[in-house]
Amino acid sequence: MKKDIPSKGAILQRDRETYAVAPHIPGGFTDTATLRKLCDVADKYGARALKLTSAQRIALFGIEEANIDPLWAELAQQPGAAIGLCVRSIKICPGTTWCKRGIQDSAALGLKIDRLYHAMELPNKMKMGVSGCMLSCAEVAVKDIGIMGTPKGWRIYIGGNAGARPRLADMLVDNVGSDDEVLAIIARIIDWYKQSGSEQRLGRLIEQRGLEQVREELLGPPASPSAAVGEPAPA
Ligand code: SF4
Repeated sequence: MKKDIPSKGAILQRDRETYAVAPHIPGGFTDTATLRKLCDVADKYGARALKLTSAQRIALFGIEEANIDPLWAELAQQPGAAIGLCVRSIKICPGTTWCKRGIQDSAALGLKIDRLYHAMELPNKMKMGVSGCMLSCAEVAVKDIGIMGTPKGWRIYIGGNAGARPRLADMLVDNVGSDDEVLAIIARIIDWYKQSGSEQRLGRLIEQRGLEQVREELLGPPASPSAAVGEPAPA
């Protein structure tokens, strides 16, 4: 009986005979030459349908198993991480590069995150999203790690997911001032998750350990109220 072929990014379809493949298109940003090539390859290898996916990819359906290797060789692109326990997709909105409502550069930050983390193996699947404003077109509230642009910088959410047991993400930290600071916090979240010893999805792990505990483990103890209002420390 045929099965998915994760190493080739090939997902067995409902007919139990043919496969879907979807090249990695970071953030869904592409160009006409890439799309022409994709169409040529789809025609040559008998794709029965093309589908724009929720992960901002283009899937080719109905590919025969014997055509998977030559298709990838001709396409010369990496498969999108659509299955398996890894960082799946980084959903990215157009942000200040294109969108008139954008207030932060979600495209630049999202593509950096994609280069660092796409397909990285983790204890469970992980999705990320980066939105350039609080309208949140990249759906950060249902991502394991969601980054949202605000007038004061970036707000970072953790633990959201859609699926059969949907969960809205918790805000981890607000007013993060730079891309580098966001990347440093994401690195801490990823390291913490890898070392957690848990195979649960991030949101379930947060529920188990408690958000405040997780926040302290990721960011350190909260600042004391006196420090926050600038009162002198006791002598
Ligand atoms: S989240 Fe904001 S910046 Fe991004 S596409 Fe939507 S409206 Fe535009």
